[in-house]
Amino acid sequence: MNHILLKNGRILDEKTGEMAPADVRIENGVIAAVGRELPESGAETVDVAGRLIVPGLIDMHVHLREPGFEHKETIATGTAAAARGGFTTVACMPNTRPVADSPEVIGRIRETAHREGRVRVLPIAAITKRELGEELTDFAALKEAGAIALSDDGVGVQSARMMKQAMAWACELDLPIVAHCEDNSLAKGGCVHDGIFAAKLDLPGILGSAEAVHVARDIVLAEDTGVHYHVCHISAKASVDLVRMAKQKGLRVTAEVTPHHLLLSDEDIPGPDPMYKMNPPLRSAEDRAALLEALKDGTIDIIATDHAPHTAEEKAMGIRQAPFGIVGLETAFPLLYTRLVLTGHLTLAQLVEKLTRRPAELFGLPWGRLAEGQTADITVIDLDEERTIDPDNFVSKGKNTPFAGWRAKGWPVLTLVKGRVAWRESVDLVRNGQ
Ligand SMILES: [Zn+2]
Repeated sequence: MNHILLKNGRILDEKTGEMAPADVRIENGVIAAVGRELPESGAETVDVAGRLIVPGLIDMHVHLREPGFEHKETIATGTAAAARGGFTTVACMPNTRPVADSPEVIGRIRETAHREGRVRVLPIAAITKRELGEELTDFAALKEAGAIALSDDGVGVQSARMMKQAMAWACELDLPIVAHCEDNSLAKGGCVHDGIFAAKLDLPGILGSAEAVHVARDIVLAEDTGVHYHVCHISAKASVDLVRMAKQKGLRVTAEVTPHHLLLSDEDIPGPDPMYKMNPPLRSAEDRAALLEALKDGTIDIIATDHAPHTAEEKAMGIRQAPFGIVGLETAFPLLYTRLVLTGHLTLAQLVEKLTRRPAELFGLPWGRLAEGQTADITVIDLDEERTIDPDNFVSKGKNTPFAGWRAKGWPVLTLVKGRVAWRESVDLVRNGQ
């Protein structure tokens, strides 16, 4: 028996966006009741003292780095970072070593996650063997082993023929294609967006069209095949316009955007600092505005962090040589809340929806809702708590972030997965064991 009562919380009304006082009672990992003044009988009571209770956040794009790159992150440290950031489910990308291109590697990731993970881990398998774009993996076997989608994240599938075959097969198996869109002939060798920052520092640039060309090609192929096609970390206005058109046509095309592409443009890069180096790169202010608009109007469906830990040594190699990517799990919610909700760009209900219910709906996952009978994946957020972001305090092994020193409000303080505590941060939640 494992009963918990989250007392004196507030929950969001999805329709009105209003916050209302509520308790949440959890019995054996399931939400038994949501309402006012629920009975404490037989439950451990946690007084959350007016804090916001939301469904556990879901991140469909992270890099846990295990197997093969445990010096950057492990499933244990990556999922601890997720839990601290309020995430209860993460989908991990296959660019590990070995690449997650076989049922054995998918099985190994699931076993490690089961043993050492703080939160639920959903493996995404590679589209092509070793992500080389030369030979398709065995989709049926990968699905059987537990892969929930297919992606060659980190590189674009260069051959249209290969992508079309992949989509046709994935559609048959009802697996989404989660695409990293990057045409090598337009992008190769670049380290930042081909814009004002690249020009100022005379750095090799990556065109926005390197992404959009692939998105256009893939939308044509998605229409041919009927597959669920999902664009990873969309960054360019031209790509957004294409997704908008595809949706108007009624195609199964969806897209995600990262917090950093929503919050920064290449105008914000202070100098040749590798903490601002990610792929796709931070684009122009115009691109950034288009992303925000598309998130608001539903063209972009969800927010995903693309949490990409690297070591300090790797990031110290300079902007041309350093690997692409920044961490994101521990700062996503407070940054987005502070910079988009408190500034009036998004409502709190919109932000929560794009991190909970929408990703669940998109990928057919049975989580993301705070309702009776649902699995008790729950996050409690202190909207008033304000902190300065300090990478030295991250539980992720990756300290690579451009947001160090930023002030942000809205920190997750308690994360429950299946009714069990995955993370408890604050010391002033009142606890009365009964
Ligand atoms: Zn990625």
